Amino acid sequence: MASEIREAKCFCGATKINFKNDPMMHFMCHCTDCKVLFDGSSKVFVYTELDVEISGAHKTFSYKGGSGSLLHLTFCSSCGMNVYTKPDLLEGMVYIFSGMLKQYYEFKPGVELFADHRFTWENKPDTMIQSYSNNGTLERIGELLENLDQRE
Ligand SMILES: [Zn+2]
Ligand SMILES: [Zn+2]
Repeated sequence: MASEIREAKCFCGATKINFKNDPMMHFMCHCTDCKVLFDGSSKVFVYTELDVEISGAHKTFSYKGGSGSLLHLTFCSSCGMNVYTKPDLLEGMVYIFSGMLKQYYEFKPGVELFADHRFTWENKPDTMIQSYSNNGTLERIGELLENLDQRE
């Protein structure tokens, strides 16, 4: 794990994310909401809030996820790119959209939710470690994060 501060930018450059740690997890969700919101499955890197410093002007939209608790979707005010989501269910965690860090990490999903909803033409990625057919075990993701820290 490199210790120097790295900087990621959104498409327009107005949003910046400074971070020095690798993501804890490469996480994917195939639920119906994600398919509508993100034009396909969501692909995010999981971090703790302490790991990242996010600057720029943003807009936030909150909605109820499959678990019944709120997700706070945040996007750049200027280019509209999805930057991160904060889930009420996992306080202190932040999901950074994979495009934000693409210059640093190739997205290789290790955990997926709603695998049953994966597109029929989309195969299960070889990198997948833990696959849940629905969100019934979402509460266990926090636990998983502690035990399955995917940092190298
Ligand atoms: Zn989803
Ligand atoms: Zn932007």
